[in-house]
Amino acid sequence: MTDTVVPVFKPLIESGEIDAAVASLKMGWLGMGASVGQFEAALSDYLGGEDRHVVAVSTGHAALHLSMMLIGLQPDDEVITPAFNNIADFQAILAVGAKPVLCDIREDTLCIDIDKAETLVSPRTKAVIAMDYDCCMADHDAVAAFAERHGLRVIHDAAHALGSSYKGRRIGTFSDICMFSFDPVKTITCIDGGALVVRTKEEVARLHALRLIGMTQPASVMYGNQRAWTYDVAEVGFRYHMANLHASIGLAQLARMPEITASRQAACKLYNELLAPLPDVITPQSDFHEVTPFLYYIRVPAERRQPLRDHLRASGIDTGIHWQPGHWFTLLKDERRGDMSVTDRVGHEVLSLPLHSNMPADLVKRIAGHIANFFARP
Ligand SMILES: *Cc1c(COP(=O)(O)O)cnc(C)c1O
Repeated sequence: MTDTVVPVFKPLIESGEIDAAVASLKMGWLGMGASVGQFEAALSDYLGGEDRHVVAVSTGHAALHLSMMLIGLQPDDEVITPAFNNIADFQAILAVGAKPVLCDIREDTLCIDIDKAETLVSPRTKAVIAMDYDCCMADHDAVAAFAERHGLRVIHDAAHALGSSYKGRRIGTFSDICMFSFDPVKTITCIDGGALVVRTKEEVARLHALRLIGMTQPASVMYGNQRAWTYDVAEVGFRYHMANLHASIGLAQLARMPEITASRQAACKLYNELLAPLPDVITPQSDFHEVTPFLYYIRVPAERRQPLRDHLRASGIDTGIHWQPGHWFTLLKDERRGDMSVTDRVGHEVLSLPLHSNMPADLVKRIAGHIANFFARP
């Protein structure tokens, strides 16, 4: 890739993040410490859920893996997940020996179709994953009612949805277990990082041990940039904690959420305005008012997608695909699944266009112009 290619994702790392990282390196405590406690508190304030607790971890995948451990999945238990999802979700289920059961998505939101999930419930079903795809939130009321009917836990994958709301409620304040990712390309980054949002102190205590290879040392000690030298180890855990350096970058990023939100909303609105009139393009069904968009995706006729990608590439614009559906992968091809008609269609049509924080309007116009030109040709 040359320097001049417009990337799909572009981190917003400026002097604030760099100063924070330098200060963190000079602090003399590189591992989990004070900045991690501060990042959890700042995220908790930002989300505003009064009865919720935030636990920072090393990645979004770690957050998902720990969610699966937290709900006590046993080998061969089943977790219903949209097939149209990040690989991390499938891997987290498999990592505890449980089985992903792949469900189709809704045409309008590209999120899990709960009517179809009903047909997939078995005596072994223990949980359902609700993933918000970009600016479209899952139908969380329907998910909660479904979970209630069948006695399931809900794992809300909000990796795309930091800053967004569902029916006026901030994402991260209402689900059973919610998780975020702060990987290099997400709305805000810790370079790598993740967080869980849970409801009880018992779950917090367990997560604190699980993220620290099982060591039951109090987070309050570590958040003083110290460690307890004696502790118990009661169960299998992983080295999944967040480090101070990463938390310090996350803190600098979190402080910029208003700027990040406003600029990404503006870019998405402009994309929709310019692309929605094109008959070959399906744009996201969102007014972008209550969301902090992570991706900007379109859908185009399957047979035109690769030629369009090539056309944009030749114009110096990269594009992405989120995602290839789970059952298309060797690892998951034999997992139980229902009707996949929407997922299979969308998997061939979906295309992610560049979306950056503080993206210039001219760049959005240039990209939209290339797409219009492409479809203007026979
Ligand atoms: C990025 C992402 C994850 C995984 O997060 P990492 O921090 O990259 O491990 C999980 N789910 C979704 C929907 C994601 O976009």
